[in-house]
Amino acid sequence: MAGEWTLGIESTAHTFSFGLVDGEGKPRPSASDTIRPSEGGIHPREAADHHVELSTTLFSKILEDNDLTPSDIGAIAYSQGPGMGACLRTGAAAARTISTHLNVPLIGVNHCVAHIEIGREQCGCDDPILLYVSGGNTQVIARLDGRYRVLGETLDIGIGNMLDKFARKHGIPFPGGPVIEKKALEWLKENPNPSLEGLELPYAVHGMDLAFSGIMSAANKLVSNGKPFEAVCWSLQEHAFAACIEVAERALAHTGKTEILLGGGVACNQRIRDMSSIMCEERGASSHCPPRMYCIDNGTMIARLGWLELNHGRTTSLLQSGIDQELRTDQTPISWP
Ligand code: AMP
Ligand code: MG
Repeated sequence: MAGEWTLGIESTAHTFSFGLVDGEGKPRPSASDTIRPSEGGIHPREAADHHVELSTTLFSKILEDNDLTPSDIGAIAYSQGPGMGACLRTGAAAARTISTHLNVPLIGVNHCVAHIEIGREQCGCDDPILLYVSGGNTQVIARLDGRYRVLGETLDIGIGNMLDKFARKHGIPFPGGPVIEKKALEWLKENPNPSLEGLELPYAVHGMDLAFSGIMSAANKLVSNGKPFEAVCWSLQEHAFAACIEVAERALAHTGKTEILLGGGVACNQRIRDMSSIMCEERGASSHCPPRMYCIDNGTMIARLGWLELNHGRTTSLLQSGIDQELRTDQTPISWP
């Protein structure tokens, strides 16, 4: 007899991760590993090789960490998209293999929706506006009529990708976001009353949409023109995060919703968390953010969404189990409360 645990496999980009939820959908921390290229950005094929090499070790680890055997697993969920094709295929292949071997259902899920559902589960919020700020994605999302709709999004690169590229240009390896946060804090420590004068950057909010490549070029120019690197890191965060918070606030105003939920790797940043809290406080709303291990890409959120889908009658046949690099947030029907 199959067990009651749902296993989740995440492999959309640089992270390969297994996670679990129990029979009630309660999450357990993931077993993950992230490829950190010594230079340049993520090469999809190298990331895929990394994922394949680590899959057996991480699978054993998640079982050992939770004192389980394969027979305790009753369903396998995996990220079906969006993401890098070569990376997605490794997770899908692992999922098909384990599901066929154990003879348990397979559930291909939407990675972006998984960020929302783990956040709702962790923070106990009901009907939030999701501000999804990650490496590859920047979207403001709200649930309306059985779908998570994208109300606004980046028109060029993801905010995390922008931070990583800016950092890389100045010799900081991937992931650059956490280092930029540290540098900005150093600047604040030396300048308790900082001014944006001379550090202004373009502020690209287009209606409900955002853009980040112009702000990155302008930040690079400030550094070339001799502005202290720490000061530019601070200014870059202030401008880029304020743009995201502005769109999220407009989404609250348009929809009448009263909760913001942060998700994605950039939501690990304390400054964007604080900005969101301040904005929400000012308009009588509430701001929520899951623990950092559930902001970054993780298998547990995939397991959680797989569990929800399974409990509402959806599984994925082998024939339908192909990956979809371009899967959109609003393509996935949401049938659970
Ligand atoms: P994800 O794509 O959701 O796995 O998140 C990875 C992205 O989050 C990368 O672009 C990182 O630079 C970014 N990131 C992680 N921690 C932080 C942080 N503390 N501040 C800003 N960005 C971060
Ligand atoms: Mg993600």
